[in-house]
Parts: sequence; C-alpha cells; structure tokens
Amino acid sequence: MEEQLLEVKNLKTSFFTHVGEVKAIRDISFSVRKGEAVGIVGESGSGKSVTSLSIMQLQHPGRIMGGEILFHGEDLLKKNKKEIRKMRSSKIAMIFQDPMTSLNALITIGSQISEAVLEHEKLSKKQAMERAVEMLRLVGIPDPEERIHCYPHEFSGGMRQRVMIAMALSCNPELLIADEPTTALDVTIQAQILRLLNDLKERTNTSIILITHDLGVVASSCSRIIVMYGGQIMETGTVEDIFYSPLHPYTMGLLKSIPKAGGSRERLQSIAGTPPDMLQPPAGCPFYPRCEFAMGVCRERTVPEFHRGEEHAVRCWLCHPGAPVVDKYENQKGGVRRGTASPD
Ligand code: SF4
Repeated sequence: MEEQLLEVKNLKTSFFTHVGEVKAIRDISFSVRKGEAVGIVGESGSGKSVTSLSIMQLQHPGRIMGGEILFHGEDLLKKNKKEIRKMRSSKIAMIFQDPMTSLNALITIGSQISEAVLEHEKLSKKQAMERAVEMLRLVGIPDPEERIHCYPHEFSGGMRQRVMIAMALSCNPELLIADEPTTALDVTIQAQILRLLNDLKERTNTSIILITHDLGVVASSCSRIIVMYGGQIMETGTVEDIFYSPLHPYTMGLLKSIPKAGGSRERLQSIAGTPPDMLQPPAGCPFYPRCEFAMGVCRERTVPEFHRGEEHAVRCWLCHPGAPVVDKYENQKGGVRRGTASPD
C-alpha cells in the first residue's frame, strides 16, 4: 500500500466576525500520498485556500475548530509554535499566486534563498549560496551564478514564480502546497510553470497540493482531484473519474467552464447564482440553491458520502441508490443508472 504523507481528518476552520462565525471549512477529510500530486479545485470562497493555510497553520485570524492534520502520522495541531515554524519550509513549503508578496524587494534573490536554507540547515554561507545557484538552475533560470545577485524586480512574472518554487524547494520539503501558482501568468508561462512542477515532482518525489479555481490546470498536473464548495468536499476522484465520469452537478459546472481549444470560453460564473453565506451555511447540500437537479431532500438533509469506486466519492443525493433517475443528469455525466425510489 502507498505511504500516506498527509491525512486531513474532519478539519473545521472558522473566522469570527462582528456578525458571527463564518464556517469556512466544514468537516473535510482527505489524504495525500508520498510523491503524489493532488488538485483542490473550487470557486473563490469554496474553502480551498483556507484548507491549505490551515495545513500550514497560517489561517490567522481564522481558528481551527476541530479535526486532525496528520503528517507522517503525527498531528500537526498538537505541535507547539517552534515545532510548527521548523516544519514550515523544511517539511512543508508553500507558494502563492503573487511572488512579489512573498519576496523581499530589497534583498537579492541569492540572499533570500540562502537565508531560507540557513534557517533550516547547518551550512556555511558559501554552501547556502551554492545551494541557491543549484536551485535556480533546477527551476530553469538561465545563468544562475549571475542571477543570484539580481533583485526580484529584475525578473519577469514567470521567472519570479520560478524563484519562489526554487526557494520553496531549497530545503527539500516533502510536501509543496501551490496556491493558484499560475493564475497571474499568461497561458504560455502558465504551461511552463505547470510542466516545471510536474518535472520536479518526478525528480524529487515531492508531494504536491495544487490549489486552483480552474479544473483545466489540474488535468495535466495531478493524479487526483478534490472538488470543494461551501467549505465541504463535493467530489473526489482520479483525473479520469472527474473528467470522464463526473457525478456532482457542481463538478459538471466547473467542467463546462474550461476553455476549449478553438471554442468559445464559458466562464466559471456561468454557474448561475452565488456561493452560500457561510455565516449561515445551509443545513443540507450547500449547492442546493444553484442546482438544477435539486430535490426536497437536498435542502433538508446533510448529504453523506457515496462511493463509486476505489477513489471516486461524491456528496450528492442523486447518487443515492434510491434517487429518481434524471435524464438530463444521466446524459451529462455519461451513464450510471440508478433506482427510481426517492432517497427520503
Ligand atoms: Fe443538487 Fe441535491 Fe445533488 Fe446538491 S445533493 S448537488 S442539490 S442534486
């Protein structure tokens, strides 16, 4: 059996505002195996970024209200601040959408990478600088011996993202969390960065969590996909499960928003309606108000997880063995037929 690197169990994270508790993450569980790339996909406000921040324990001012985050079987939520600081970068590293917010504009790239290395490893300054050169070369920065003396503004957007990846990988983390790493980049550079992440995963066996609003981005980079909505996981499965046999109407909506080569671009917003108010999350399915297949049971009852294979699981009452057959839904998802009784 493949080794589990990260196991998130029943995680709940909330933000406390003057009008009440915003339940950003509502009881989610998933795992990441060693050397595996997993994509977490959803619209903004779905909870995907709060999930990654919670793993890093950077969710402040949010609070983790319950659950476990097991890394190599050890619960990160039971570690003290010093242990967590040590774990960040040395075991789990994160890169964000905008590298300029993470890079110091006044310090050369070489110094920033070598400082990150020195924080976690007992090396001389010279050795740390050599590591910086090595990392820049690894991520495809030309003339790394020269470029370590440059400042962030002397790099293009795509090159800065490569620098961030180099910095994140400089301490050989076992897990890299990339939160919308390509959103600010043009399509060609986006493809290069995704190829780079893929390549690094193969070469270093680093596990990756790739967070994005765009299902198209994870298609070529990940082996498994987690679809989030309303602070919950709606569907999980292999790339094949999600792309060829999607079961959740929300997943189908996301799939429709992927631009097709030579075709017209239907955007994410084409899913009519707005995400739920997390101050008062719905009792039943969070997608209920926007779902064209909604039934009475969807509004009232929490949706359990239905399993459709080893990796494929979905939270939708339409997957209940007794759910009514909806022709349009059957056509959209491509074919599994169910019974005809009501799930009530
Ligand atoms: Fe739609 Fe009901 Fe399924 Fe939610 S549970 S996605 S409302 S059919």
